[in-house]
Amino acid sequence: MAAAPHAQLQKRPGNYSALSPLTLLQRSAYIYPSKPAVIDDRYTLTYLQLFTRAKRMASALRDVGVNKGDTVAVLCFNTAEMLECHYSVPMAGAVLNTLNIRLDANTLQYILKHGDAKVLIYDTGLEAVVEQALDGMDQRPLTVAVDSGAGEPGKLAVHRYETLLEQGNAQDDWVRPDDEWDAISLNYTSGTTGQPKGVVYHHRGAYLSSLGNAMAFGMGPDTVYLWTLPMFHCNGWCYTWAVTAIGGTHICLPKVDTDAIHTKTTQHRVTHMCGAPIVLNMLINDFHAKGHVLDQAVRFAVGGAAPHSATLDRARTINFDITHLYGLTESYGPSAFCVWQNDWQTLSTDQLAGKLARQGVGLFAIDDLRVANMDDGAAVPPDGHTMGELVMRGNTLMKGYLKDPAATSAAFKDGWFHTGDLAVVHADGYVEIKDRIKDIIISGGENMSSHEIENVLYRHPAVLEAAVVARQDEKWGEVPCAFVTLKEGLDTSEDELIAFCRESLSHFKVPRHFIFGDLPKTSTGKIQKNVLRQSLKS
Ligand code: ADP
Repeated sequence: MAAAPHAQLQKRPGNYSALSPLTLLQRSAYIYPSKPAVIDDRYTLTYLQLFTRAKRMASALRDVGVNKGDTVAVLCFNTAEMLECHYSVPMAGAVLNTLNIRLDANTLQYILKHGDAKVLIYDTGLEAVVEQALDGMDQRPLTVAVDSGAGEPGKLAVHRYETLLEQGNAQDDWVRPDDEWDAISLNYTSGTTGQPKGVVYHHRGAYLSSLGNAMAFGMGPDTVYLWTLPMFHCNGWCYTWAVTAIGGTHICLPKVDTDAIHTKTTQHRVTHMCGAPIVLNMLINDFHAKGHVLDQAVRFAVGGAAPHSATLDRARTINFDITHLYGLTESYGPSAFCVWQNDWQTLSTDQLAGKLARQGVGLFAIDDLRVANMDDGAAVPPDGHTMGELVMRGNTLMKGYLKDPAATSAAFKDGWFHTGDLAVVHADGYVEIKDRIKDIIISGGENMSSHEIENVLYRHPAVLEAAVVARQDEKWGEVPCAFVTLKEGLDTSEDELIAFCRESLSHFKVPRHFIFGDLPKTSTGKIQKNVLRQSLKS
């Protein structure tokens, strides 16, 4: 059969190019040259300034020996420089490796070595840990210090950020990816189950995630985005590029502090922010205690764990409009979201909370989400009950794990990316995560979702945080054990919490043991259930 006539048409430089989020900055600088792109406590940069500075820094990085494909690591707070690195580093053709500012020196050293960092750009406020991390390294990265005012002017660094930037030439051509599959960034997982893994993103995925995330979160040119989410976490879930894509304004927030968040939200008329449930919880509790109500609705995208119904309830009274996102480091941050349906408007608060606590459907560049039967990978029935592993495929999933082909193949087994999360599918096709596979509790042969039990505990007025894990039990195999942090000044007892849980849960799901105290958290603020489980064994 003759080929269809349109099959003869060619890809050409004029009709086909590698997708990259870098072109989004170029576009916004063209359209909005004098609009504030980023507002930091120290200065404001317009879009033209941000673009020009990024090009200069890219040229300077190349002059100090950064070549295509090299890794440039960045250890910075949420500052204008940190945002700038999301453009300058890939514009030099390099791969951006943002580092978690809460990591200890050993882990930092492991990552710098594993990622072959050629340059390390760091904030002088973090110089002490950098010094320890570099100690004993044979091949040290070239150091560049950012003086953001968080510490003494750096003594350790070979270059000062501003001086280096001034040496660059904004007229130099910046490096565009040859192929959209080229790496743009390297993000390490938090390593709760061993050494952190290096997740590699490509330009195509970063571009698609940025546009998809902006659409999912209802962003436009009037968006004012406050950086309550660390930019080091999955490149700020790609909002470092998404806010720029739509020509919004980035507001920097070096540290999460509820008073600073309130002040900046009011002062800059912030419209959007993101964060883990722990940040949302902290904000809601603090705003509530201080009687703050926002005078315009602020959209808050929460991800990392489903928001508990009590949180959703309280959020509304403060004027936070919640978007629920789900994702992993491997999926460039968000890969699913709970798309609003208009007929939900008539639901009761409890029914609505039930709908919104679901992780929902795939984001725009995810082709398929499936809850796969653990035995044969077939889709489970949409009955809201049968559990399976959430798997997905599409264009915003990592290239793979750096230097780890075995883990990469396992993650992409059978043509799907495996999330390691257990979920169900509801009749409307929306998925709901029940647990991480390793967190599910199996008692007397029954699967029990720790999340369901935590949801009930979070509704108790004295409970600030709760985590439920399995405790070994001779008779039942496992039984649920609850770790609870109480709100300051409030009190309750094990008996009261047991009675409270019994009102809403089948009796076998009610925790047998309660342990009160602070909960251990990962460097990204997630409760470390592995540590809690371990504490029960010792
Ligand atoms: P790490 O794996 O290092 O903790 P990630 O950010 O990659 O860091 O965590 C991804 C995991 O977080 C998911 O696999 C899932 O278990 C959990 N998660 C993320 N978003 C949600 C959500 N909206 N609801 C429930 N769990 C979530």
